[in-house]
Amino acid sequence: MLEVNNLEVDYRGVKALEGISFRAYPGELLAVIGPNGAGKSTLIKAILGLIESEKGVVKFRDRTLKKQLNSVAYVPQRTQIDWDYPITVWNVVMMARTVHTGWFHSPSRQSKEIVKSALERVGMGELRSRQIGELSGGQQQRVFLARALAQQADLFFFDEPFVGVDKKTEAIMFEVFEELKSAGKILVVVTHDLGVTLRKCDSLLLINKKLIAQGSLHEVITSENLKLAYGDSVLLFNPK
Ligand code: ADP
Ligand code: MG
Repeated sequence: MLEVNNLEVDYRGVKALEGISFRAYPGELLAVIGPNGAGKSTLIKAILGLIESEKGVVKFRDRTLKKQLNSVAYVPQRTQIDWDYPITVWNVVMMARTVHTGWFHSPSRQSKEIVKSALERVGMGELRSRQIGELSGGQQQRVFLARALAQQADLFFFDEPFVGVDKKTEAIMFEVFEELKSAGKILVVVTHDLGVTLRKCDSLLLINKKLIAQGSLHEVITSENLKLAYGDSVLLFNPK
């Protein structure tokens, strides 16, 4: 179980998140939703300890998460990745294996097998020698999905994985999410739109600096909650 208790983040005195508590369980896809600027990316980064939090405790399997980051895969928002960085598809995915083999060891045969099958799983095996910057948005996102798979983590965070991707990529991502769920992994998926992710998730967290609601689709997606989070702009949304 992932357990987040009373998380609070300030950016130079300005509160970005306040009093966020929730739990996620093995085999569950938890969607984190909320408008732009709600603090969704901040929430993930604070959970992972990539930014400091003022308050709060994050536990995974009853122990501090920060001591178990080897068990965590994180796919950042596309805008936070430097796509001009000169690196091949293969090496992006192989980087995930350094948590197992260390930086200064050449990859084991097992690691190569894992990288190969992760790339094949997302339909990127043939493009393994390409530079990451030469790929389409969907292909890039699939490479990062392969990297998460190759890490063989137990807890996965995806920040806006569906932004700028094609239908094929979206379908592959949902298939992989299902497989990870069946294997008892925990998936936390951030999304700012109220689209297809909602129908695929097991539970929802609606935030706008604070936690507005959590629970099932029907518990969270009420016009009252949406108005609290998004203002009036969301009234056209129909969750069915
Ligand atoms: P979301 O991912 O929900 O769109 P973010 O977590 O990126 O929201 O940002 C939440 C708020 O914190 C926004 O108002 C944003 O401008 C601010 N913010 C994000 N990162 C920083 C930072 N490094 N320094 C200062 N303010 C930031
Ligand atoms: Mg964000």
